[in-house]
Order: sequence, then structure tokens, then C-alpha cells
Amino acid sequence: MDARLIDVAALATTLGKVTGVAEVLTAPEAMKPWQNDQWWYAVAAAAAGQPISRPDVVVRPTTPEAVAEIVKIANQVGVPITPWGGGSGVQGAANANRGGIVLDLKLLNRVRHIDHQSLTCVVEAGKICKEFEAELNAQGLCFTHYPASTEWATIGGCIAARGSGVLSSKYGKIEDHILSLEFVTPTGELVHTPAVPRHAAGPELTQMLVGSEGTLGIVTAAVVKLRKLPTKRVFGVYSFANLKDGVEAGRQIMTSGLRPAVVRLYDAHAAAHSLARAVEHPLPDVTLVLMFDGDYPDLVDLEAAKAFEVCRANRGTELPAKLAELWWERRYVFYYPPYAPELPSIWGTIDVVADFEHIEDVYYEATKAIRAAVPEQWDLSLNTHFSHWYEWGSMIYARMKIPTGPADLAEAKALHDAVFKAGTEAALKAGAVLNDHHGVGMRLAPYMQQQYGVGMDALRRIKTALDPKGILCPGKLGL
Ligand SMILES: Cc1cc2nc3c(=O)[nH]c(=O)nc-3n(C[C@H](O)[C@H](O)[C@H](O)COP(=O)(O)OP(=O)(O)OC[C@H]3O[C@@H](n4cnc5c(N)ncnc54)[C@H](O)[C@@H]3O)c2cc1C
Repeated sequence: MDARLIDVAALATTLGKVTGVAEVLTAPEAMKPWQNDQWWYAVAAAAAGQPISRPDVVVRPTTPEAVAEIVKIANQVGVPITPWGGGSGVQGAANANRGGIVLDLKLLNRVRHIDHQSLTCVVEAGKICKEFEAELNAQGLCFTHYPASTEWATIGGCIAARGSGVLSSKYGKIEDHILSLEFVTPTGELVHTPAVPRHAAGPELTQMLVGSEGTLGIVTAAVVKLRKLPTKRVFGVYSFANLKDGVEAGRQIMTSGLRPAVVRLYDAHAAAHSLARAVEHPLPDVTLVLMFDGDYPDLVDLEAAKAFEVCRANRGTELPAKLAELWWERRYVFYYPPYAPELPSIWGTIDVVADFEHIEDVYYEATKAIRAAVPEQWDLSLNTHFSHWYEWGSMIYARMKIPTGPADLAEAKALHDAVFKAGTEAALKAGAVLNDHHGVGMRLAPYMQQQYGVGMDALRRIKTALDPKGILCPGKLGL
């Protein structure tokens, strides 16, 4: 669906009756903050004056009922509608590349209720992660979902992108933090999913929305799990002569019932060029950073001691734990200027996930293919780490940067796309799943058919049944 020939003034007037005119923007200058998310190509295209996100109107509702009303209007007018959280996504999912309405959810930002007995909370979708965490911390509580984009990302955006945070190895990804959702269907009905996620009242509707990137519904609030702030954290750092030993140490820790909050294994290049910079200490070898936390200090000490034994048994060499503490303190710094990449660089992350049987193959095949896809003249740097671990496998985060890409936008895009095609196809062939926590958006949409096979038809049928006019976030997720 494309927003061609719509009467923008009439649409803005109708939307203004729902939200008040102050929350409806149509002037190009006023809509600039919504012209790109953080996908490299969206950033580069906007800088070149050719933004891929071209909303006709931006609207900022403050209630779930207003969201439902706006979706009904979009259906009546037949215009695309794209939810927007913090715009921090890196796959292009939030860009209104077919025009229409951008629905900014950041004014839907209340903490509606905290249940101190169950340790759960009803939080609205537009709440920024960092602000939510600060409010909880003031009450001795926390939401153990800490993405590096915490300053920008909203709770709804994390849910929609199926995101992850640095404590995922113990507390899980965003899908593990959610009990239920309030959402607006693509035809404008306000729905509440069953109150708890462990039930046998049919399939889990809540999880259908998680990872749907705005294509199947608009999340307006979530019931999420909280924790008490931990009383103790224990850190450890080990280096390994080769990747195999490091992966094996991680595998044994995760499959033995230990529950590290942080497990980050850096390959030798990432240790030397990325982690070493963060902790200001030379790290020439494969390096594993661990952190254990909890309410009972003796249990935390014991769990950490057992994990450190595993590292030593796999020929790990103990490094000062202070390095891991420094990493923890500075963990967000390296995603922001002046450390974050800027134009005219080309940057991006291929983050895939696989079980332990395939994980090393995926690492070697994907990194080899990425390197082979970039001619030497472009001076590729590739830093790879394994930073979200599961009882059955891990994710691989291959961060590529070309310091100065081709000046021509189309040539730069072709180089970027060649890297993603090579890395993604090699990873899939070696047994990985397309993405671990950044989502699909526009960037990985071309690979969804390969990922799902005939299953993609089932996804398409779900989309068509829920969104007969195809107005909600059209073109994303390969739908
Ligand atoms: C520096 C940096 C570091 C990052 N680190 C991490 C990290 O550690 N972990 C991680 O998981 N990600 C990370 N990301 C990626 C990004 O922050 C996440 O994908 C985040 O979940 C996006 O949230 P957002 O609110 O910005 O969503 P947006 O980018 O605004 O939107 C993302 C998608 O969700 C949809 N959407 C947004 N809100 C809703 C809603 N309420 N209902 C339905 N659909 C909605 C949009 O339409 C779009 O399809 C990082 C990004 C940057 C730039």
C-alpha cells in the first residue's frame, strides 16, 4: 500500500479531532525527527536529502483509545500507518517508506500500576527504557532489560523488535519479561491478552505480537516482570588461546544450570580493538567477561566460583576482575558519539543465533564471507562477539565498519548490501537463524522467505487476516 493522492489537510483535521491539533504535524521541517531510524542506510539517505521515511503526517496520541481511533481513521482513508517508538531500530522497520501516518507512541508513557506482591508492572508502550529503569530503581526495583540503546528505545519498540539486553543470559530476552499485552489490532480494536503467559487457554496471543515489528498490531501497554535490585554482583574475566576453548567454557557454564547474568565472549580482534578500548587495557586474546548477580551474596559467590572453575578447566587464564567492572560501568558509552560510527562510514551488525552444535561453523563461515565481500581498498574492520547465551546456544554479533565508503549513495548501498547478503546467507547455510535481537525491518526482509520457507505463507495469511487493507507497517518483515 502506498499513500498516493491523499488529502493530507483533511486527514490532519480528522486526526486533530482525536488528539488535539498540537499533536498532529504536517510541516516537513517539523516531521524531520521521523525521517530515519538508526539503520545506516536510513541515516545516509536522510543526510543525502533523500530520506526513505516520508510521512505525510505525524500524530502523537496520549491514550490507547486514541490509538484505536487513529487506526480506524487510517482504515477508512486507506492510508499506511507506521508505529514509531524511539526510532532507535537498526533494521529500517520504523521508516514510513510508503508515506501515510507515522504514529509516534512516546506520549503513551505512564507507569500505570506496580504490583509489589507479584513484582509485575503495567507500563505503557512509549516509555523510554532508561526513564522506566530510573523510576523503578528509586523504589529498589528494576526491569532487567538493558539494551545499549536504553536512552532512546521504548518498551513497545523493544517488544516489537523482539530485543535483548546485556543481562539476557540470566533474565532472558524481552519476550521472557512479558506477562501480557494491551494492543490495537490493524482494524482498530483494543485487545487485552490473557493476564499470565503460562496457561493452556489456547495459543499465546501475547507472543504473536512480540517481534511483529508493528505489522500485526500496535502495542499500547505491557504487563512486565520486575525484580528487586540485586544486593551483590561478582565479575570475572578470562582469556583463551583460541575461540574453541572460549566457546566450550561458555557452553559448559550455560548447560550446567549456572545462571550468569552476563556472558560476553569476544574474538581476538574484538577483544583487542573494541573491549580493550572500553576498559583501557591490552587484551590480545579471545576474552570472556562474566557477571553473576542476586539477592543472596553467598549464592552469587558460589555460582561465580563454579563458573570460574569451568573457565580454568578449559585453559582460561584469569585476568583482573576490575576489567569486567569497568566494562559494566562504561557499557553504554561506546554506542554514542564520539565512539559510535558516523557518516561517511558504512556500519552495521549481523546478529544471528544458533545452537551449540552449529555456533562455531556459523562464526567461521559468516566472518569469512563478510571479509570476502569487501574489496581490500575499503579497509573493512570486523569485531565479533557472542553476547547473549542460552542453555542451548548463543548469538553472534558481527559488527562491521567501512571507515569511508563510496561517495555515491547508490554505490555505498550496494557495498553495504553485498556485505549483508554474504554474511547472512553464509550464516543461514551454516545453521543459524536470521536474527537474534535487532529484528528484520527492511534490511533483512529479503531473507525472510529463505528463513521460513513455506512457513512464510502462514505468516502472510495471518497478516492478511488481521490487516485486510494492509495498512499497518506495510512492507516490513517481508510481509
Ligand atoms: C546505539 C544502539 C544500540 C542498540 N543496542 C541494542 C541492544 O543492546 N539490544 C537490542 O535489542 N537492540 C539494540 N538496538 C536496536 C534498537 O534500539 C532496538 O531494536 C529497540 O528495540 C527499538 O526500539 P524503539 O522504541 O527505538 O523502536 P523503533 O525503532 O521506533 O521501532 C522499531 C519497530 O517497532 C515498531 N514499533 C515501535 N513501537 C511499537 C509499538 N508500541 N507497537 C507496535 N510496533 C511498534 C516500529 O513500527 C518498528 O517496526 C540498538 C540501537 C542503537 C542505535
